[in-house]
Amino acid sequence: MSEMPMEADIAVVGSGVSGLTAALEAAQGGARVAVFEKQPSIGGTSNFFEGIFAVGSAMQREKYIAYSRDQAFKNFMEYNHWRVNARLVRSLINRSAETIDWLQALGVEFLEVTINMPDAPRTYHIVKGRGQAVVKAMALKAKERGVAVRVSSPVKQILKGKRGPSGIVVECDGKDTEVACRAVVIASGGYANNAEWIRKYTGLDLGRTVTPMGNVGKMGDGIRMAWEMGAAAEGMGVLHLIRVAPFGPEFPFMNTVEGAAIQPVLWVDPKGERFCDEGIAYYDTSLGNVNSRYKQGYTFCLFDDTIKKHFIEKGVFRGMGTVVHPGSKLHDLDEQLEHFLSLNSKEFFGADSIEGLAQKMEVDPRVLRTTVDRYNVLCAKKYDEEFAKNPEYLLPLNGPRFYAAKARTCFLGTMGGVKINYRTEAVDEFDSPIPGLYAVGLDAGGLHAESYSMRDTSGIASAFAVISGRVAGENVVKYLKE
Ligand SMILES: Cc1cc2nc3c(=O)[nH]c(=O)nc-3n(C[C@H](O)[C@H](O)[C@H](O)COP(=O)(O)OP(=O)(O)OC[C@H]3O[C@@H](n4cnc5c(N)ncnc54)[C@H](O)[C@@H]3O)c2cc1C
Repeated sequence: MSEMPMEADIAVVGSGVSGLTAALEAAQGGARVAVFEKQPSIGGTSNFFEGIFAVGSAMQREKYIAYSRDQAFKNFMEYNHWRVNARLVRSLINRSAETIDWLQALGVEFLEVTINMPDAPRTYHIVKGRGQAVVKAMALKAKERGVAVRVSSPVKQILKGKRGPSGIVVECDGKDTEVACRAVVIASGGYANNAEWIRKYTGLDLGRTVTPMGNVGKMGDGIRMAWEMGAAAEGMGVLHLIRVAPFGPEFPFMNTVEGAAIQPVLWVDPKGERFCDEGIAYYDTSLGNVNSRYKQGYTFCLFDDTIKKHFIEKGVFRGMGTVVHPGSKLHDLDEQLEHFLSLNSKEFFGADSIEGLAQKMEVDPRVLRTTVDRYNVLCAKKYDEEFAKNPEYLLPLNGPRFYAAKARTCFLGTMGGVKINYRTEAVDEFDSPIPGLYAVGLDAGGLHAESYSMRDTSGIASAFAVISGRVAGENVVKYLKE
């Protein structure tokens, strides 16, 4: 770990890819940069991402993937009904392909360019070694460029100078230390663990109706400090929602049973009634949104032995990250099912009758029986008059054994907080920049109107973290030279 620097040109709050990228670019431009990280290790949520968005990359061109920047931009803006910062979106999309080259030059390797949705453009560039490999490559380069990186050093306050920031207050070994600087990049990764803000801005209860994944100690520190400096708020309340079944510490991340449970078969709400076209199984944002309507924090996914056999012998419909590909046969499903059932968990159940299953799910057996009977009739007709699901997914449930997984509403991060312009300068409510203050990655607002924009720009969260960091790094150097 670097010594505590007492002075720097630029202080970066947070060592995820947004902060590290800003630091790298600024150091490249000749600035003295210090990165402060709250946790004992670097990388934050960025350690977990799998794929990065880009359009027009060399990998895409090699595969004749004909998706243009213009089309990506139009799709993005339409999805968000123009309630986002168009110049910011455009710069993100325009710089995405060269950012893949930039990452490769750092030593990051990409495995393939793909997608996990049947009708979405192939924009998802899979990183070898997940985000952790990107963090590692960036940290190495940062060291080479003389960037100081301090872990276990939360930034608590930005000190106001005559024009912009004059320093920051960092907690180190239990005591507050002032570090002089002339500019600050806020990259603290949002407020996913701040129960009060989550309730205030989303109406959801942390840990009960919605659960964060891959986020630790994210209290919105950077957002609060930017607001204290006069920056406006934008994008509060937008979550990177997903739906996970089954969920809990006893279930490994992306396991085979989850691979079966997330298929578009039969899903019911906490009362035991069907609630959506399960064909939305491919679209995480839609899944998270529909699930978050239930204040219990969960719905259920059902299947039976015949469907289980289908997944083992014929394969699954949807994939799961790079772990399960569409059409994969779940060879170890029987074994994994037995193991999960032996845990007697409150998240995954098996029973020899619908009524028995209902009892374990704590739903009215008559309601569940009616739902399953009705669903089986729709399957026989091969027409879903309730939600117009693709008939391919209309597989009936006839037993002999039935399974149910609780599908929890989870989220991978909060998406917004500080209003910025396309140069990533923090701005006030009338778009006037706060001198020397920048916000990037999950701390920045203006990219997602009300939901994570996933279908047409898959991988956009990590791409935005990297690209906004690059833009901030370039602009903060210009600011220092002015
Ligand atoms: C399981 C999982 C899978 C994902 N998969 C994908 C994917 O495949 N594609 C994709 O595009 N996106 C994905 N995402 C989302 C993506 O990882 C994030 O949006 C992105 O990495 C955020 O980067 P960031 O730099 O803004 O925040 P972070 O990486 O979280 O970095 C913020 C850092 O700031 C630190 N910090 C907080 N407060 C302070 C303080 N006061 N002082 C100093 N430091 C502080 C935090 O500890 C953290 O290390 C995934 C997320 C998760 C959880």
